[in-house]
Amino acid sequence: MIVRARHVVTMDGAPIENGAVVVAGDRIAKVGRWPEVNDGNMGKVIDLGDSALLPGLINAHCHLDYTSLRRTIPPPASFPEWIEAINARKASLTPDDYLQSIAAGFAEAAEFGTTTLANLEAFPELLARIGTPPLRTWWFAELIDIRAPQPAAATYENMRGSFECGGTWLGGLGLAPHAPYTASAALYEEVAITARTHNLPVTTHLSESREEMEMFRERSGPLFALMQRLGRPLEDCGTATPLGLLLSRKVLDERWIIAHLNELTRGDLAQLASARKFHVVHCPRSHRYFGHAPFQPRKLRALGYNICVGTDSLASNEDLSLFTELRQLAGVEPTLSARALLEMVTINAAAALGQANALGRIREAFAADLIALPRSSNTTNLLETLLEFGGKVSWMMIAGRVVGGAR
Ligand SMILES: [Zn+2]
Repeated sequence: MIVRARHVVTMDGAPIENGAVVVAGDRIAKVGRWPEVNDGNMGKVIDLGDSALLPGLINAHCHLDYTSLRRTIPPPASFPEWIEAINARKASLTPDDYLQSIAAGFAEAAEFGTTTLANLEAFPELLARIGTPPLRTWWFAELIDIRAPQPAAATYENMRGSFECGGTWLGGLGLAPHAPYTASAALYEEVAITARTHNLPVTTHLSESREEMEMFRERSGPLFALMQRLGRPLEDCGTATPLGLLLSRKVLDERWIIAHLNELTRGDLAQLASARKFHVVHCPRSHRYFGHAPFQPRKLRALGYNICVGTDSLASNEDLSLFTELRQLAGVEPTLSARALLEMVTINAAAALGQANALGRIREAFAADLIALPRSSNTTNLLETLLEFGGKVSWMMIAGRVVGGAR
């Protein structure tokens, strides 16, 4: 089949005007200008008219479990206050509620043009009850061992059973030790070993809040107090910054997608310059909701870190639109170009998931994950115009199958 559109934004060089993409099975077979690609022998033609065709967007950090918690928690005075608020709400949710939340999250993400998600799953046992997910999904089992041991390898094996029995599931599996204040050094170590053994991506929350910095560096503050109340051993507090602590354990490498990294001392930045490079995911609107310290994308990029964007959960955000996330980030960091911003939800996020050669671009042999934005008329500032997109995508294809807005 051949998909034709006014513009094809491949993420390789300039957008192609009067472009077309040939799809064979679940892959892209060819991309170029319509007159050159169309030899009259390509089978079905899907003509998207005045649309712009883009690679499907990739949300590098979300928690679909909490889609139902939208607008239930007002912006908190402190980060631990929010942790307690979400825990109180979670106490009243059942497994069926979480399944509904996940399904609603998939539907909403798709409407906004997301075809791939890195989803932190607090209840990996739910995978056995999820039908074929509609989007390409990396399921990161969220691991917390503050109250009881949580074996990473066994959790992964259980998830793998569900995933491999799922037949047509697209995506993969990963591990997510929650954060240094909720996951022990031993757990991080086991995760790192399991990830190396099975070649898995890993994600964790790190240096997100000033209270986390205070807990680890000063051995004080409200997060320290909360963890003390919960009975967490605290001998790792008062020694280093959260980043310094994880770097000293030598677990971080290119498999890791570090969420947040808002709180960075001068010493942290110096260590980052020589550290093994990992990926970083920023959640612009969740960041604004919490009022965290400014995220430093240009500095991190200059140090060689790959920056992606995610939505975080709807317990700290309003919707799952990555376009709105990019606009929020552009408002705070006006020097980032439209291309640099779009890369954060396409090629950068693909690289973070270990999919640099399969996702995030419209290129021969890549997965046929495509979205169309309607009314693409501005050719001089096309990418800037596309970033203004505020509606729902008009058409979507995942793995060569049209899944929405077919015409
Ligand atoms: Zn998160």
